Amino acid sequence: MSNLSATDALQLTGSPGDAGGAFVSAPGSLGGECFRATCHATGADWHHRTADRYYCADCAADINLACQLKGEPAVCRKRR
Ligand SMILES: [Zn+2]
Repeated sequence: MSNLSATDALQLTGSPGDAGGAFVSAPGSLGGECFRATCHATGADWHHRTADRYYCADCAADINLACQLKGEPAVCRKRR
């Protein structure tokens, strides 16, 4: 099991302040890696409206279920 995440790759290959970088797979971005720390699924397209980050469908379903169990509205919505 490798613990190397996209964040690590960013630190190795680019400067964090470089807005021109093409790191579309940074965790939590649309179409990138799921924002959940323990999940490394890619193609995240479910937007978490309070965190303003993207999750994969599985994690979004978990998060929305947790909201439902607490009687709160779902916070994740599919973006595309
Ligand atoms: Zn996920």
